[in-house]
Amino acid sequence: MNNQQSQPGVDLVQPGVDLEEGRQVSEVAADIAIVGGGIAGCWLLRLLSNSGYRVILFEQEELGCDQTLASQGMIHGGLKYALGGTLNGSSEAIAGMPRRWRRCLAGDDDVDLQGLPLLADTYHMFAQRSTLGRLTTFFASKALRGRVSRLDSEQWPSEFTGFNGVVYDLNDFVVDVPALLSHLVSGLEHCTYRQRIDANNLMATPNGYQVKAGDTTYNVGTLVSCAGNGSRELINTLGLNDLQTQSRPLKQVVVRPKHGVKLNAHCVTGVTSNEPRLTITSYGQGTDLVWYVGGLLATTGVDRSDAEQIAFARRELAHCVPWLDWTGADYSTLDVDRAEPYQGGGVRPDEAYVTKIGNFIQCFPTKLTLAPDLGDRVLSELPPASTNLPSLPPNQQTVDVGHFRW
Ligand SMILES: Cc1cc2nc3c(=O)[nH]c(=O)nc-3n(C[C@H](O)[C@H](O)[C@H](O)COP(=O)(O)OP(=O)(O)OC[C@H]3O[C@@H](n4cnc5c(N)ncnc54)[C@H](O)[C@@H]3O)c2cc1C
Repeated sequence: MNNQQSQPGVDLVQPGVDLEEGRQVSEVAADIAIVGGGIAGCWLLRLLSNSGYRVILFEQEELGCDQTLASQGMIHGGLKYALGGTLNGSSEAIAGMPRRWRRCLAGDDDVDLQGLPLLADTYHMFAQRSTLGRLTTFFASKALRGRVSRLDSEQWPSEFTGFNGVVYDLNDFVVDVPALLSHLVSGLEHCTYRQRIDANNLMATPNGYQVKAGDTTYNVGTLVSCAGNGSRELINTLGLNDLQTQSRPLKQVVVRPKHGVKLNAHCVTGVTSNEPRLTITSYGQGTDLVWYVGGLLATTGVDRSDAEQIAFARRELAHCVPWLDWTGADYSTLDVDRAEPYQGGGVRPDEAYVTKIGNFIQCFPTKLTLAPDLGDRVLSELPPASTNLPSLPPNQQTVDVGHFRW
C-alpha cells in the first residue's frame, strides 16, 4: 500500500534534506491519516490503532473544539425522534446504541471505555400532567418496552421534587465529553498532530496521499476526513465535488441558575413536533452550575436574535420547570452548525455516514451516539493494515483536548 516497503525491525522514518529550505526532513509511512479530531476522528484513531493500523490524526485547533464539545453528550436510543407517536428510521437506526456504549464502558467491545466517568447514568423525560395526549399510550406500548418506563412519584429523583406531572426513565445517559476524548487518545498522543490540512500540505499520490507537517512528510495509503464543518473545503481541495454536504444550525442556550439543582432530562410538555421542547443537560455545581439547553428551543432559535432567544428561553424554563426558582439566573446563547451528508430538504440523517472514493473516505457520525456505528463502517471500507510498520515517532505538535464551549 505504501511506496516504502517495510522490513521487520527497520525504522521507516527516513531523514533527508529539503532542497528548497535546506532543512532536515523525515519521511514517515503510515496506513491512515485522519483529518479532524472531534468524536469521529478520536474514535477512529483509537479503533483503527487497536486494529493494527498505523494512524496519524491531524487537528487544526484542539480535540473536540467544534461540534463535539458543543454537544450535549447524550448517548441516546432515539426515543426523542419518535415523539410523533410512531417509531421511524431515525429512532430505530440508533436504538441499540446505548447498549453498545455500555458494552464499551464494561470493556466488552472494540473500544474500551472502562473508567470513563458519566455525567448522568440515566436520563429522564417529563411532562406536565395531561399534556401528552396519545403519547401516554405510545410510551406504555410493547414496542417501547425497555426503552422508556414511567416512574411512580416515590421513585422520582430529588430534582423533580415539587413537580406536578409525569416522569419517565430512559435508558440513555450523558458522557463527560472532554474526558471521553482524553480517554480515546490516551497513549496515542504522539499519533496526534496540530496542523490544519489544506492545499498547501496535502497531495494525492498514486498510492494514497502525502501530508506535510512541520519537517515531516507522512505517506499514507488512506485519507479519512472527519473534518466536520471543514469537510466541504477539504472535499473541494481534492476535487471530489460530487460529495454533497449540508449544514444545520442550532442556537443553544446556556443558563447559569442560582437554585443549584442539576437536571438531565427532556421536557415534552405539550409537545407537538418530533422533537423535545427542551433537552437539558447539567454540568458543574454550586456557583459553577450550568444548564445547557437544546431541543426545539435551539432548532427554532436560529430564527431569533440572541436577545429574543434568551427572552424565549426564560419563558420556556419558567413554564416547563416552574418548581425551580429562576431568580438571578444568567443566560447566554451558543450558535453551532451541525455538519452532515446532504439529505435534501435539510432533513436529519438517520445513520452514521461513510463513503469511500478511491483512497479517500468521508465520515459524518451525524450523532455522537453513532460513533461505534461509524467505526464499524470505516473498518469495513479499509484495506488490511500494513505489516511491520514501526510506531509513529514522537512529534512536538501533539494536540490537546479542548474545553466545553460554554
Ligand atoms: C449543540 C449540539 C448538541 C449535540 N448533542 C448531541 C448529543 O447529545 N448526542 C449526540 O449523539 N449527538 C449530539 N450532537 C451531534 C454530535 O455532536 C456530532 O454529530 C459530532 O460531534 C460530530 O463529530 P465530528 O467529529 O464529525 O465533528 P467535529 O466535532 O466538528 O470535529 C471536526 C474537527 O475537524 C477539525 N478540522 C476541520 N477542518 C480541518 C482541517 N482542514 N484540518 C485539520 N482539522 C480540521 C475541526 O477543528 C474539528 O475539531 C450534537 C451536536 C450539536 C451541534
